[in-house]
Amino acid sequence: MSSLAPPLLSGHAVPGMTTLRRFVLVAALVAGGAMIGLLSRHAFSVAFWPANAVLVGAMLRKPLLFRPSGWAGAFAGFLTTDLVFDRNVELSAFFALANTAGTLTATLALRRLDPADLRLERVHSVLRILAGLIPGCCVAALIGAVLVVVEFHGSAAQTLLTWPASELVNYLVVLPVLLTLRHPDAQPPRIAEPPLWPAGALALSCVAAVQFDGPGSIMFPMPALLLCALTYPVAITAVLTMLLGTGCLVTIGLGMVAIGQDMAIPRLVLSVRIAVAFLVLVPLTISSAMAVQDALLRQLRDAADHDGLTGLLNRRAFETRLQERLAQHLPPGGGLALLWLDLDHFKAINDRHGHPAGDAVLCAVADTLRGVCGPGELCGRLGGEEFALLLSAPDRAAAHRAAERLRAAIGAQRVDWHGTTIHATASIGACHLTRLPADAAALLRRLDEAMYRAKRGGRNRIEWLDAPGAARAA
Ligand code: GH3
Ligand code: MG
Ligand code: MG
Repeated sequence: MSSLAPPLLSGHAVPGMTTLRRFVLVAALVAGGAMIGLLSRHAFSVAFWPANAVLVGAMLRKPLLFRPSGWAGAFAGFLTTDLVFDRNVELSAFFALANTAGTLTATLALRRLDPADLRLERVHSVLRILAGLIPGCCVAALIGAVLVVVEFHGSAAQTLLTWPASELVNYLVVLPVLLTLRHPDAQPPRIAEPPLWPAGALALSCVAAVQFDGPGSIMFPMPALLLCALTYPVAITAVLTMLLGTGCLVTIGLGMVAIGQDMAIPRLVLSVRIAVAFLVLVPLTISSAMAVQDALLRQLRDAADHDGLTGLLNRRAFETRLQERLAQHLPPGGGLALLWLDLDHFKAINDRHGHPAGDAVLCAVADTLRGVCGPGELCGRLGGEEFALLLSAPDRAAAHRAAERLRAAIGAQRVDWHGTTIHATASIGACHLTRLPADAAALLRRLDEAMYRAKRGGRNRIEWLDAPGAARAA
């Protein structure tokens, strides 16, 4: 059981949700799902039964519901909906018991998974979820088999085959949508604006499947589905697999699409359901694997662009972003201040207090720089004890104020190192840009020279540069 989730039988009140509200909420959710299922009934059984997946999804996404009152609500939801259709209290109670016990078992198994698995963000997430669902399907089927044998004098062996398959396909079709829907911790999408044509190809292949029909038609949408899985984030893939899976279960189950098989034969219904379950399993797994690849790429890109000690942009990333920024149009009044900083006598700090103390000073300076750097501005560590900033400064006076504030802030900073206070100062080469320079690299070189003039001029000072495209120095 996840340590984040409240224990099932703890007696503590859960803030924000009363027992009655929880009971009614879960009962309504389950009744809604069960109603859809009972309306899609056909000769052999229901075509589509979303209630159990909705219940498990709600319990996993909202752990506050995972309480005895929530499960009592689930039982009541199953029971009342069944009574509306069957009016046999004993039978309905038995069905409700099978569904409640099955969903409770599945929820308990799935709560043990890593939260990233429940968001389908790991390579084996879908298979782990599948494994977590199986015990729930078996528990429901065992109780269901007793009912079938005692009440209907049916075959226990057949029930033990068809019931879990039916449960499983319904879980696999519906649950991924509920687990991935607008998740606050979800990874950002791979493509900012994904194209629509893979979804269009999926719709076309569904039309082709209906036109051609026959047993193989279930697999017609697979290529388009794989394309969608490679293109869209896992949440969208889950919605598409739900639409497709539900469409298959309902249209084939109710005989709206003929696959050339008699859907009154339980063995063939079982076969179709397994085909649909595996149809949705593959694209979901691919989409999860893509999410893993995206996260790794993001981490790699992040590590390649940032300095390991301070977390600021490294030299290469700073120069690339500076070049990009300078290639953009500079609007009137949209001037920039470019600053090159070098800490003064930093070697002496290392020599006196040790290298780790020097590192602490570098991190403290980086924090100060980050503090002055707003959105859209750049801040990087160019090497050793050298840093650079690109700040917005509409006019030269604003650039001078920003540079002076920064110089003073670094000088005022105190780093406490094992009882000793260390302080550092910086020499700064700076320029104010009102026009964009043709060559950013040449400008950086000249800034470096200006910084060295500041060193020669006594350190802890700013030397302004007349750069091409820069305003005249004060
Ligand atoms: P100046 O005022 O002329 O700039 O003198 P300085 O001592 O700051 O300059 P110098 O170039 O002589 O020394 C820079 C020192 O920075 C030398 C090097 O050991 C140290 N340094 C470079 N990278 C790191 C680092 O990551 N951590 C620590 N602690 N020190 C570093
Ligand atoms: Mg230096
Ligand atoms: Mg230095």
